[in-house]
Amino acid sequence: MDSNISYGDDYKFIPATSIASGIGIEVLPDIYCHTVQIVNICLVGKPDSNEFVLVDAGMPHSANDIISAVEKRFGTGSKPSAIILTHGHFDHVGGIIELVNKWEVPVYAHSLELPFLTGKESYPKPDPTVEGGMVAKMSPMFPIDPINLGNNIKELPSDGTIPHMPDFRWIHTPGHSPGHVSFYREKDGLLIAGDAFVTVKQEYLYKVLTQEQEISGPPRYLTTDWVAARESVEKLAELNPKIAVTGHGLPMSGDLLTSNLRLLVTDFEKIAMPDYGKYIDGHNQ
Ligand SMILES: [Zn+2]
Ligand SMILES: [Zn+2]
Repeated sequence: MDSNISYGDDYKFIPATSIASGIGIEVLPDIYCHTVQIVNICLVGKPDSNEFVLVDAGMPHSANDIISAVEKRFGTGSKPSAIILTHGHFDHVGGIIELVNKWEVPVYAHSLELPFLTGKESYPKPDPTVEGGMVAKMSPMFPIDPINLGNNIKELPSDGTIPHMPDFRWIHTPGHSPGHVSFYREKDGLLIAGDAFVTVKQEYLYKVLTQEQEISGPPRYLTTDWVAARESVEKLAELNPKIAVTGHGLPMSGDLLTSNLRLLVTDFEKIAMPDYGKYIDGHNQ
C-alpha cells in the first residue's frame, strides 16, 4: 500500500445537508444505500456475507460516518473488498483517503477519471452562473483539485466486468465527467447510476433539503459536456432498468422510473439542460 496518498489542496467540509442525511435504505437484500449529507454511498453485498464492496466514498470529512454505516451493516471490524467509484468528484471521494488508509483496499475507476485521482489534473471549475438554485451558487467552494490515491487506484477491467461485483457490468456514461461510469445488473434490472442522472433537482437547496423526488439530468454546476450527458442518459434508458440508485436523491423504481426516464430522454433539453451557463453558451467550453 502507498502511504503517500492525499486529498487535493482545496479539500474542505461543505456545509450542505438533506433530511435524508444519516439515513440508510435497504433497496434490495444485497443493496444498501446510505446518505452522507447530500450524496449517497452504496454497499453491495448481503449483510451475512463477508464479501461486499463500497460504491463511492461520500462528502469531505465523512469517513467516520461511512465506517459506522459499514460496521452497522456488516459487523464491527468489517471492511469491503474494494471501493468502486462512479467518478471522482469531491462528493464521491470525500472520505476515501481515511478509508483506504484504514481498510487497505484497492479503489477502481474508469481510466479517463484517473488524472483526477492521481494528483495530475483538476476538474473544470464549477459554474455558479448556471441556471439553478442555491447549491449551484455555492459551487465555487466545491473542491476540484485532484486527490492522489497513488498506486491504490486501479483501472476498471476493459471487458466491462467489475472486481468483486460478479453480476454487474460497468457502462461508460460520460458527460458529467469524462470517466463517469454506471453499474448495471441485468438479472434484476438494478442500476447504480452515479450522477449520470439523479432523482432530485440537485441545484436547488430546498429540493436537496427535502429530497423531493423528481428525475433530473446530472447535477448542472459540474457537468461540462451536455452532448455526451444526453447520450449517456439514452444509453441507460435503453437498458430499461427496474430500480435506480442515484448519486443524489432517493432510489426510484418500477413504472415511476420507467416513465421518468422516458420523459428525461424525450425532454432532455427542458428537464436536464440549463437555459444558460458557461458550459452551455457556445456549445461546451
Ligand atoms: Zn458528480
Ligand atoms: Zn455528485
